[in-house]
Amino acid sequence: GAPVMTLDGPGGAGKGTLASALARELGWWLLDSGALYRLVGLVALRAGLDAQTAADCAVAVDASRGLDIVFEPDRGAGQRVRLAGEDVTDVIRTDEVSDAASKWAVQPAIRAALLERQRDFATAPGLIADGRDMGTVIFPEADLKLYITASPEERARRRFAQLSGQNVDANLDRIYREILERDARDASREVAPLKPADDAHVIDTTGESVAASLAKVRG
Ligand code: C5P
Repeated sequence: GAPVMTLDGPGGAGKGTLASALARELGWWLLDSGALYRLVGLVALRAGLDAQTAADCAVAVDASRGLDIVFEPDRGAGQRVRLAGEDVTDVIRTDEVSDAASKWAVQPAIRAALLERQRDFATAPGLIADGRDMGTVIFPEADLKLYITASPEERARRRFAQLSGQNVDANLDRIYREILERDARDASREVAPLKPADDAHVIDTTGESVAASLAKVRG
């Protein structure tokens, strides 16, 4: 099959930026698997579904299988995400949707519903796969596996700077607490808990620029 490079790690570690830079450089496809979980979160929020209710879960699983998603390359700015034609690029980045995504991502049936769709991204000339379980579950045979991390404090500062840059009112303490909560949820779930694959190269980007991290990845 096509070559696959996986980038896993906690939220805000800089994976997304690195993954899109690498995809652009190599001319490979990019899978932002977090966006898939965010889309599930968005759809579930809009439908008023509760992750703790079995009947709601079944509805969400069906919806996840049938999601009409298009990723559109957006020069210089990563990619735009369309859900049934609607541009949801910005709305899936809100705190509300982040929280919903992380709650639905613990459901094994939701993860199973998205599995084949993710594997289908691995086509010529190659794929950069960005997520939590790309190297451990989705592409265990990947050619190169990276695990990108940074301290929770650093990740909170980056998110704060990003929101402030968008003129969004943000609170550093609250962002920090939310990062710790999501880390705990990602690490403790039964299916595909967040951890580096045995054969992953671990790269810590704390205190590093994107350029410096990219240089490490290339090296
Ligand atoms: O990476 P991002 O923050 O966009 O991911 C959104 C949510 O989706 C995270 O909270 C994470 O729990 C979940 N996720 C996942 N598996 C992936 C990618 C993301 O569980 N491969």
